[in-house]
Amino acid sequence: MTTTTDLVSYEDALASYDPVMGLEVHVELGTKTKMFCGCSTELGAEPNSQTCPTCLGMPGALPVVNAIGIESAIKIGLALNCEIAEWCRFARKNYFYPDMPKNFQTSQYDEPIAFDGYLDVQLEDGETFRVQIERAHMEEDTGKSLHVGGATGRIHGASHSLLDYNRAGIPLIEIVTKPIEGAGARAPEVARAYVRELRELIKALGVSEARMEQGQMRCDVNLSLRPHGREKFGTRSETKNVNSLRSVERAARFEIQRHAAVLNGGGTIIQETRHFHEDTGSTTSGRVKEEAEDYRYFPEPDLVPIAPSRAWVEEIRSGLPELPLARRNRLLAEWGISAADMQSILNAGALDLILASIDAGADAASARKWWMGELARSANESGVPLDGLAITPEQVARVTELVSKGDLNDKLARQVIEGVLAGEGTPDEVVEKRGLKVVSDEGALTTAVEEAIAGNPGIADKIRGGKVAAAGALVGAVMKATRGQADAARVKELILEKLGVSEG
Ligand SMILES: [Zn+2]
Repeated sequence: MTTTTDLVSYEDALASYDPVMGLEVHVELGTKTKMFCGCSTELGAEPNSQTCPTCLGMPGALPVVNAIGIESAIKIGLALNCEIAEWCRFARKNYFYPDMPKNFQTSQYDEPIAFDGYLDVQLEDGETFRVQIERAHMEEDTGKSLHVGGATGRIHGASHSLLDYNRAGIPLIEIVTKPIEGAGARAPEVARAYVRELRELIKALGVSEARMEQGQMRCDVNLSLRPHGREKFGTRSETKNVNSLRSVERAARFEIQRHAAVLNGGGTIIQETRHFHEDTGSTTSGRVKEEAEDYRYFPEPDLVPIAPSRAWVEEIRSGLPELPLARRNRLLAEWGISAADMQSILNAGALDLILASIDAGADAASARKWWMGELARSANESGVPLDGLAITPEQVARVTELVSKGDLNDKLARQVIEGVLAGEGTPDEVVEKRGLKVVSDEGALTTAVEEAIAGNPGIADKIRGGKVAAAGALVGAVMKATRGQADAARVKELILEKLGVSEG
């Protein structure tokens, strides 16, 4: 079904053209109730069980604004260094779609709640790129259509469609950048870094979990090319609802190559929406894009204007948490790690988990070691995100505590983690069930040491003669005899003690 699209190589495209991007990100707020009614926003409920006359658009039903929704929008605006409107209104964006029973979406048009900001994003090499923010406005989500009977779940070929309005009216914030220019070949990387930074920001503000894989955050990638040296923007395409960081980068890259091929061939770019396909990394044509005037926006007469007092805005500003970029820079210094190490932590999705383990009592170095080592490897092998592993930050902290108390060595700790991941229980339960404890009973250790010396008289003589390095073989023998459950450093001390040799 996907026809092949002509592409030019990425390098050739960049040799002739400058990409200009615009990114529009929709974030579903984590409020308990919908934006204009009291219906629950809980996921996974029976279809159409979380609806009322307001979100179903019944005649006479009147909307009421969700105060937490407004506060969340202001938080996001402030964190994005935006101006907050002293007065703004909602607008009706008129169009018909089966999943939108009111026949209009309540949105904001020329009066967004937040505007003129910026977000600094960090690229892989640690360089910072400033993305200018045009606006952040409030709106509501639509319902969901389920097309039944077709092969692909798309409307094409379906015998009928089912509608679920539980999502209709869930608050959304749409964040729109100004045209992103000057990134050149790094434009796709900037797009990815921007969406990631925005996601971290939204999570830090506590206004949404911003899980892209669950559609709580989705990105439209607008892209156009212009020949080097020309000021006027080219015609843009709009790749809709891209839902992973990697896909955002790939979609931008693909569109750069596709636009260049069309332009090189003397063709014209059609302003249209496009769909991104994960499997092929390509985009295909959606529909020809409507212009704003097609929607016949007009002010929503059923909602009073929003006029947040300056005192309230300042109160919200003073309550903002430390923002992600500032926090990362602080941690870099505190932990003494490199920008590249921090990038790996971010790429692995490990930062929040490490911090949560530290909150639960782990020291920073151990928390980093386990999350970025053993656990990252496990997640990789089983193909789940790090936070999808069956172990909590508190449990990781408990393992590090057992290690620092000397109850476990690293080798045993790895077995404990393996047991927790396999569903054998908490770290303490796994220690108990598998009998994993460092042998710290001096009597038992001494016996094992004496046996090792008696069993290896030649090596013992070498050590007595001053070859301390030979002790390694005896330590090995003791570790084997205790099935790895001894503290190797203590074993070595005991061996040298017994043989009357001092180290160094
Ligand atoms: Zn409702």
